Amino acid sequence: MYLSKSDYLMGLDCIKALWLKKNRKEIMPEYDEATLATFDIGNRVQDLARDFYPSGIMVEAETWDVENGSILTKELSEKHDVLLEAFAKLPNGCFCRIDILVKNGDAWDLIEIKSASSVKDYYIDDLAFQKYVFENAGYPVKRCKVLHLNSDYVRYGALDVKQLFAEDDVTDAVLQKKSEVEMYVKGMLSYQTMPEEPEIPLHSSCSDCPFYGYCGKDVPPYSIFDLLRADKADAFFNSTHSCDIKDLPLEYCTTDKQLIDRDCFLNDKIHVEKENIKEWLNSLEYPLYYLDYETVMPAIPLFDNTSPYSQVPFQFSLHIQKTPGGELEHIEFLHQERSDPRRALAEALVKGCGKKGSVVVYNQQFEKTRNKELAALFPDLSADILAINERVVDQLIPFRNRYLYSPKQNSSASIKYVLPAFSDLSYKGMNIANGGDAMNKYLAFLNGSQSEEESKQMFADLLKYCGQDTYAMVLLMDVLYKYADIK
Ligand code: SF4
Repeated sequence: MYLSKSDYLMGLDCIKALWLKKNRKEIMPEYDEATLATFDIGNRVQDLARDFYPSGIMVEAETWDVENGSILTKELSEKHDVLLEAFAKLPNGCFCRIDILVKNGDAWDLIEIKSASSVKDYYIDDLAFQKYVFENAGYPVKRCKVLHLNSDYVRYGALDVKQLFAEDDVTDAVLQKKSEVEMYVKGMLSYQTMPEEPEIPLHSSCSDCPFYGYCGKDVPPYSIFDLLRADKADAFFNSTHSCDIKDLPLEYCTTDKQLIDRDCFLNDKIHVEKENIKEWLNSLEYPLYYLDYETVMPAIPLFDNTSPYSQVPFQFSLHIQKTPGGELEHIEFLHQERSDPRRALAEALVKGCGKKGSVVVYNQQFEKTRNKELAALFPDLSADILAINERVVDQLIPFRNRYLYSPKQNSSASIKYVLPAFSDLSYKGMNIANGGDAMNKYLAFLNGSQSEEESKQMFADLLKYCGQDTYAMVLLMDVLYKYADIK
């Protein structure tokens, strides 16, 4: 049996996940498109980060070929001071591949490249495992560092790789993990060879695990994990082994929202607070402008005045309605060139939104923040864009505050749950069915990794998707009028 760095990190999260990976590989799902897109970002960042160490010598071995990679690393380390993608392995089966290995006096520094813009806790575990492997393989380690994207960097002109990255020395935090790593490695090496699957109870964070489809197969579509806070759901499941809301005593629900959600689920009824809906509807000023943005967040800034992971809006949809339930006008903007979309988008937005009437969005924080960013970027449009923010009304509020709640929402106020709860319109089967899809596909276009044909199809899919987002808000407005008994 072997223990790689990713095995170790998985084992730290859940020992059962590690056991399943080693013994039931066939139930591990394929990577989805979102995960593959994340890998792609990681690879692009790695390629750029290596420019930090231009003298680095690549250890040319396949990732799976740990045996040859380790031999090659040993040979190269005797002649060179900087190695890229260096291998180490131990007789007990532990192995890893560090991004950059740098000679420091009579020892070595380990440098891990990360595409995030700050140091996360699990990077310390990651480096602690690598330090354990390298040291026991005969490479004394002096410093451990994380080379990550620098969120303070703002691009102007050509990409400045030196400024794009920040290097954090995390040696002290890694040293504190020394005895822990030794203990966990021992445990994981013996655990993964056990004949029986470990018994680990389901918990709130299981839904992020690749084995959730297996461990959570008996969890109903709406369960205590949706209704309760994580600690309460875990405590209830641990003591009862049930995640069924029908088994949940009333006292576990401590907020008004939980009580409403539970009551609606158990009695299959819709909760309506007519006066609150009316009050919210009365705050609207016609004509209404239903607005939704799509954005892209390139890890490596593509345009001037952007930083790693800046949100760059590239599309909006705007449905305009002059009277309640009245005719709709539709305006849309989609930047179809590989250039900065923001100026053209901001101009189209100002033109499209007119001067008066409520601007209806779903989750105002997102659109308002994008508008503030656009206003700061284009001083000549600033007053007009900020005036749009003054007119924003958030349609999330009546659903999040439970003025209207259907048990089909599964305790969520996301439009992806609210819409099918109150209408036949759904995102199922659409080529682009959520903001993450839109973002990843548009980024692939910007990076030039799509054919012309693929881009053409994607533009059509994006227009359909974003248009549906604002049309969904129109339908939900009709729903709110209906439940408030206003014709
Ligand atoms: S779904 Fe939960 S219990 Fe099952 S392997 Fe994953 S984390 Fe562990």
